[in-house]
Amino acid sequence: VKKNPAEPEFHQAVKEVLESLRLVVEANEEQFRRDALLERLTEPERQLKFRVPWVDDNGQAHVNTGYRVQFNSAIGPYKGGLRLHPSVNLGIIKFLGFEQIFKNSLTGLPIGGGKGGSDFDPKGKSDREIMAFCQSFMTELSRYIGADTDVPAGDIGTGAREIGYLYGQYKRIRGLSEGVLTGKGLSYGGSLARTEATGYGLLYLTQEMLKLNGIELEGKTIAVSGSGNVAIYATEKAQQLGAKVVTVSDSNGWVYDLDGIDVTALKEIKEVKRARLTEYKNYRPNSKYHEGKGVWSVKVDIALPCATQNELLLDDAKILAENGCIAVAEGANMPTTLEATEYLQANGVLFAPGKAANAGGVATSALEMSQNSERLSWTFGEVDSRLKRIMVSICHNMVDAAERYDAKGNYVVGANIAGFEKVVDAMMAQGIV
Ligand code: NDP
Repeated sequence: VKKNPAEPEFHQAVKEVLESLRLVVEANEEQFRRDALLERLTEPERQLKFRVPWVDDNGQAHVNTGYRVQFNSAIGPYKGGLRLHPSVNLGIIKFLGFEQIFKNSLTGLPIGGGKGGSDFDPKGKSDREIMAFCQSFMTELSRYIGADTDVPAGDIGTGAREIGYLYGQYKRIRGLSEGVLTGKGLSYGGSLARTEATGYGLLYLTQEMLKLNGIELEGKTIAVSGSGNVAIYATEKAQQLGAKVVTVSDSNGWVYDLDGIDVTALKEIKEVKRARLTEYKNYRPNSKYHEGKGVWSVKVDIALPCATQNELLLDDAKILAENGCIAVAEGANMPTTLEATEYLQANGVLFAPGKAANAGGVATSALEMSQNSERLSWTFGEVDSRLKRIMVSICHNMVDAAERYDAKGNYVVGANIAGFEKVVDAMMAQGIV
């Protein structure tokens, strides 16, 4: 805390991971101390902060701050998304980059951890303004990334449109047609099923976790928060698997649809019109729109937080448990506070942490990198079935690691240990770097 003041989200992420690793660390204490293993693990290899000037449609210039934190390359090139949201600061990017190290390790694919973004707010901007920002951002970032060094992707506020503008500028500056970004459009090297991957992957893992505990996903009622990329495709896959999603939300309010969220309507509102959830009522007159927070107050079997960090608090956890919720799986990164997580676990609610549950996005990004390297495109079915295999395997690794360390059923511990083991092994093998 003294070394990195004013980075509460980073401290929170590190605390959660280190607490889970207590047993592993104690078993190897002498070596970890000698090699300063934890100090190296929590200090990014490199962190970049840069000016992003751009001009709006009225000719007014603006300056935003750009970030890229290249956290750990022990098992492969840095990999992690770019977040565009006014709340972005170095501490947020560091928390996301730190989490990404273990998440990427869990996928079993050769990718290191990184994250980036800017405090730019894409909401309400014209396409030209978005392009101007993205070109300026990439003009600086292009010096530090590459298909074999650092491969950014989307995150909050960065979707296919932004990735397209970023990719175009990278190519213009570096003259390289390479897989330097993932989440690209299908016409220029993107992978089928990448758009769906995080949400679909969340459901594959949730289904497997329930199965290992003797519970069926089919027929369950689910609360989803958020209405962006992760939330939309989590909702779609949940309904395909026979569950019913009754809520979605955005930063202004939330929708309750007793008959199950209409995914086609949701996609049209969010992906085509880029509108707010207040529109949903026009498609489903029987649904209800509420201002403010509230998705966790609904009586459901499963909760899938898919919006942003620290959106499921202790009081929400209490209501969920009281209402008989059996499982929480994090589609977003760190949406559940530490106290809320502990409360859910102590009250018998199955809890799948984001670094395992939402790893399907980055796993499919790594599959996009493979396709780019071999200059081939796989079918939707091929990518989707690999995604499913990866999520099932992550689920088993997290369950098994928890059991190995006498923490049966504690999937936070399991996921952290399973992710940590490979990274540490690679770091040890490569010497003090
Ligand atoms: P999007 O930008 O597509 O959607 C984000 C959603 O969350 C929107 O509904 C947004 O509402 C809401 N939201 C964002 N910030 C806040 C806030 N401060 N308060 C309340 N609501 C908020 O992002 P994604 O769906 O891609 O990402 C969602 C989460 O999933 C993030 O935590 C991200 O890091 C994580 N994630 C995403 C992956 C991906 O592949 N996309 C992969 C792994 C994790 P509004 O429109 O009002 O801002």
